[in-house]
Amino acid sequence: MTDPRRRLPGVHRLLDAPAVQPLITQHGRRTVTAATQAVLDETRRALAEGGEAAAAFDEAALVAQIAGVLAAEQRRALQPVINATGVVIHTNLGRTPLSAAAQAAVSMVARGYSNLEYRLDAGQRGGRGEAVETMLCELTGAAAALVVNNAAAAVLLMLSALAKGGEVVISRGQLIEIGGGFRIPEVMAQSGARLVEVGTTNRTRTGDYEAALGADTRMIFAAHRSNFRIVGFHEEPDVGALAELAHAHGLPMVHDVGSGALLDTAAFGLPHEPTVPESIEAGADVVVFSGDKLLGGPQAGCIVGRAAWVESLRRHPLARAARIDKYCLAGLGATLKHYVEGEAAEKVPVWRLLGRTPEALEATATQWVEALAARGVGADVLPARSMVGGGSLPEESLPTFVVALRHDRPDALMARLREGQPPVIARILDDRLALDPRTVFDWQTGALLDGVAAAVK
Ligand SMILES: *Cc1c(COP(=O)(O)O)cnc(C)c1O
Repeated sequence: MTDPRRRLPGVHRLLDAPAVQPLITQHGRRTVTAATQAVLDETRRALAEGGEAAAAFDEAALVAQIAGVLAAEQRRALQPVINATGVVIHTNLGRTPLSAAAQAAVSMVARGYSNLEYRLDAGQRGGRGEAVETMLCELTGAAAALVVNNAAAAVLLMLSALAKGGEVVISRGQLIEIGGGFRIPEVMAQSGARLVEVGTTNRTRTGDYEAALGADTRMIFAAHRSNFRIVGFHEEPDVGALAELAHAHGLPMVHDVGSGALLDTAAFGLPHEPTVPESIEAGADVVVFSGDKLLGGPQAGCIVGRAAWVESLRRHPLARAARIDKYCLAGLGATLKHYVEGEAAEKVPVWRLLGRTPEALEATATQWVEALAARGVGADVLPARSMVGGGSLPEESLPTFVVALRHDRPDALMARLREGQPPVIARILDDRLALDPRTVFDWQTGALLDGVAAAVK
């Protein structure tokens, strides 16, 4: 009896097989060689353990396995997906698409050199992000601004620079976890500041803060509960009252507003989300917010406030470690320009998607159902709700219309949609697979409908 492993083709013979050539074109020769070696190793192992029955070793079966390995690798690579979940700020799907101008700004600095830290007027070294900081001041009413890598870094920097070795007073109702492991008490510990909790989970009064202030107090800190809501018996002093108390004791009042809204969400049929200018107006000394939530820009952490505090953050060694990269800076600048020009509601994708009306969404959903019917796919238009998502406006949703597919295995269909090219991310609603047009761009419609038709077949 011959060892069945000796009947396996070698790597080179497989790489020359006609069926493998398209894989090489698509993935590259080295990648396909590695996948082929992995499949052959696995097949040899299976033959050694389980005999011939356990392993396929004709060429076609091996090529199919190689294609499977490559497809699995491909799915792990960063790539565009179609977001048909209706969740507008979807952290797992990249939070926020950029406006056309912001996309152009990113590719502009990617293509060649830029005046990132160079003053063209003086021909000398300049500060990174100066133009963006000027816009942030103009838009928020703050005297100074600093941008860093993300809001989590901004909070860590702020606590390290202003409160290390001292105490930070915060309400028990705000000891939050944002997601991705960002917990206020743990960040506080990292920064070297001591947390002083006051009040209770649901009720904290100004007097509770006042009683906790002492010689070691460095700041009063307030964090926005971005991703959950307290309902019922609840009380908390507003930013203005906390700022007044802090100032009476010569302390800064710092506000982590999270989503960083610069437009009023109430104009979009949502509850009012605290805006950055409101915090500044109410007397907060330092306000921290995210660039890629309701602001609708790239990943960034924005810090605005009084010049003395912001400058001490800028000089802190952590500021260098947390500095923003040039692509995000370019995208942030172009996004902020939309706000300066008063065109953010039309130009910034997050606001455009939030502003889609139920009538427009129903019309789109109806078109999709007709286009799917023409491809032999049965579906219905149903009223539903789209979530805002992304640590902004917890539990808040907007009326939408979804396309619900007629299919008896929605979970299997959802998995097949994820395997498509481009992958489509959907959700299950009342045991049916639902596609929400709110988060799908016009230019994605053809690919979406083709992907759905292919997955249903
Ligand atoms: C989202 C959020 C953060 C973290 O922001 P990133 O930009 O994602 O780092 C911090 N604080 C609050 C209150 C948030 O909502």
